[in-house]
Amino acid sequence: MRGPSETFPLDEASIHSALGTAPKEDPARVREILAKAREMKGLADLDLPPLMAAQDPDLLREIFDAARWVKDQIYGNRIVMFAPLYVSNLCANECLYCAFRASNRELKRRALSQAEIAAEVDCLLSQGHKRLVLVAGEAYPKEGLDYILSAIRTVYAVRRGDENIRRVNVNIAPLDVPDFRRLKETEIGTYQLFQETYHRETYARMHQRGLKADFDWRLGCMDRAMQAGIDDVGIGALFGLYDWRFELLAIMHHARHLEARFGCGPHTISVPRIEPAEGSATSEHPPHAVRDEDFWKIIAILRLAVPYTGLILSTRERPEARRTALQLGISQISAGSRTNPGGYEDDSEGGAQFSLGDHRSLDEVVRDLAETGFIPSFCTSCYRMGRTGVDFMDLAKPGEIKAHCHPNALSTLQEFVEDHASPGTRRAAEQLIASDLAQLDPRIRVQSERMVAQVKEGARDVFC
Ligand code: SAM
Ligand code: SF4
Repeated sequence: MRGPSETFPLDEASIHSALGTAPKEDPARVREILAKAREMKGLADLDLPPLMAAQDPDLLREIFDAARWVKDQIYGNRIVMFAPLYVSNLCANECLYCAFRASNRELKRRALSQAEIAAEVDCLLSQGHKRLVLVAGEAYPKEGLDYILSAIRTVYAVRRGDENIRRVNVNIAPLDVPDFRRLKETEIGTYQLFQETYHRETYARMHQRGLKADFDWRLGCMDRAMQAGIDDVGIGALFGLYDWRFELLAIMHHARHLEARFGCGPHTISVPRIEPAEGSATSEHPPHAVRDEDFWKIIAILRLAVPYTGLILSTRERPEARRTALQLGISQISAGSRTNPGGYEDDSEGGAQFSLGDHRSLDEVVRDLAETGFIPSFCTSCYRMGRTGVDFMDLAKPGEIKAHCHPNALSTLQEFVEDHASPGTRRAAEQLIASDLAQLDPRIRVQSERMVAQVKEGARDVFC
């Protein structure tokens, strides 16, 4: 049942007026903003347009260097790994860019049974995943939301030897407050939902039918989720539908609104770009396709503007683009993904949501990260230790979270090495762990060495 719409007061006019303030490149102003960003307290609306307007390659390099510096200060070289689990592609909506939309009669439809979900989870565990995001279209089998709640319980219940999924994030259609309470009871990690576009008129054109046509219902979704006690929420926009500059400022407004109302902004921001989807002309020719050069700016500006919010990049992007994005501020990536329900067990049947840019296995991505100096982290500790919402931000802002994240990243990577890595990946990861331990601050090193040693001796799920 839909309750009254709780909408954050998105003010399009103020976004447009902020965007009108920096029509030309202004190096002096950009440098002033970068100095402020290095204080890691975030940026204001009027700080963003000058960064967006920068074109000169040297000035852009300064922006990217600042973003990398902020990322290093807060996240170091850790990258959190996850995989999507598509449980159903049934959908009653009509999003013009998505292969799951109701009018796409060509798509092979499927809602996995609980046994099929368990088989998918078994496959993901066999690759080494520990953290999933459960995804579904907006039309559930006859049980309604109970289908999703059972799916989450199924995921947590699967055991493969002593391995299990330790954190299930969820990306499903907006709920009302009572249903969000039921979702919270299943012990999800983050609830994610992308506004797609914050531009009302574009939104109306892209979503002409179905429940999703209600812009305000979607806009107020995170308010309802947080009202229901879900501490960690993930927002985002689907880049390519409208001007990226507008979307970026709107994301900032959304984040600030949640922080003002609930004392804590979003836990993550996702930056999906539209990818080609079966039978969707809009996805083949997005109305505001984002070029790579602008995509780097989006990531770098977000890193500077909301330094403590995780930034998520999916396998929509090609490996080369992902490597660049990691340098600029991305802190979480998916790997080895399938976007068709049942795709991990059997990928031959079609039914995917969109085409992927990165087809590498988890093992290959882990090796690539390790060879380029990043620590793939399978850590799920924070939410299991109750470090969520305001509590997480209280630790993250003074930088204390590092003392947990770094040892946990190393111990979970060691777990991957012991249980799943191919010989080449094992070599790359072990070299990285050794060189990283050698460079660590002694206080963190002692703890990290102890935890890595425990894993080597056979302990599992070692975290602090
Ligand atoms: N059905 C729910 C919804 O729409 O919010 C949740 C799951 S939906 C499968 C997850 C996300 O996929 C959408 O929010 C949208 O941003 C993204 N998506 C849809 N079509 C896409 C495409 N062609 N390329 C990239 N991302 C796409
Ligand atoms: Fe359905 Fe979500 Fe795809 Fe829209 S984006 S058609 S709601 S699955």
